[in-house]
Amino acid sequence: MAVPLGTTGPDSAARVRWRLAEVAAVVDETPRVRSLFLTVPGWPGHRAGQHLDLRLTAEDGYRAQRSYSIASPPEDPRIALAVERIEDGEVSPYLAGEVRVGDKLELRGPIGGYFVWNAAAGGPLLLVAGGSGVAPLMAMLRHRAAARSDVPTTLLYSSRSFEEILFREELDRLAAADPSLRVVHALTRSQPEGWAGQRRRIDAEMLEEAAGLPLPEALAFVCGPTRLVENVAIDLLTLGYKAHRVKTERFGPSGS
Ligand SMILES: Cc1cc2nc3c(=O)[nH]c(=O)nc-3n(C[C@H](O)[C@H](O)[C@H](O)COP(=O)(O)OP(=O)(O)OC[C@H]3O[C@@H](n4cnc5c(N)ncnc54)[C@H](O)[C@@H]3O)c2cc1C
Repeated sequence: MAVPLGTTGPDSAARVRWRLAEVAAVVDETPRVRSLFLTVPGWPGHRAGQHLDLRLTAEDGYRAQRSYSIASPPEDPRIALAVERIEDGEVSPYLAGEVRVGDKLELRGPIGGYFVWNAAAGGPLLLVAGGSGVAPLMAMLRHRAAARSDVPTTLLYSSRSFEEILFREELDRLAAADPSLRVVHALTRSQPEGWAGQRRRIDAEMLEEAAGLPLPEALAFVCGPTRLVENVAIDLLTLGYKAHRVKTERFGPSGS
């Protein structure tokens, strides 16, 4: 089992070394997102919120490298990634479409010591995600559950449609089992009939209503497309969150 690392990171030599991981399972989570479960011999362990670098090498030697957040908690011996297929992308269509169980992938990590949370850090926690940006926040929620933490936590999660909500059933289960966890969905493009949740992009009003957390002591983690992350960070500062308590991770350029 991977060793939870608390507040200290694995040594830097282990983090920069490229390792050969094996794909142990693939799961289609939504029409555009696939989870890859990897076994990584010698993995030094990680903290919830960290990411890794993955590199692909073509037969002619051409290499492409991208970052992916680790969606599995430190307690889990397998590394889980949630890769969203970007239609004209170089790497994600391969990872989210072509990769098969038993394939080998080169990766290095874990990377990042800023966008991380562990149960000992406490809260209250406000997690805000857009699309596949929920991946590192899922590692935090899974770690929170494994550590039996009851830190008051809200996940405000923006997806285009009901079908595109990543980890929906697991989130429902976690929230149903834990009165200190609140999960609020916003569907920006289409909503099923009778949808009682939010139906627009995340804005200051929604953050204030949905969070239901005492300010300004809440600790916020915001992850997703660049525009969402930047807008939410500005809204949180306007609402009185302390700048050093708002942590952000940008996945890419698109809006959501
Ligand atoms: C720290 C970090 C963690 C990340 N974690 C994840 C993760 O857990 N899951 C995940 O799916 N992605 C994640 N990403 C994004 C990932 O690294 C790639 O950028 C993404 O998979 C696209 O790569 P590509 O080669 O398919 O597209 P590229 O060939 O790099 O780009 C193709 C086109 O798509 C645009 N584009 C690139 N990235 C995105 C994006 N994210 N959304 C919309 N348009 C984009 C580009 O501007 C370009 O026009 C993360 C990025 C960072 C920096």
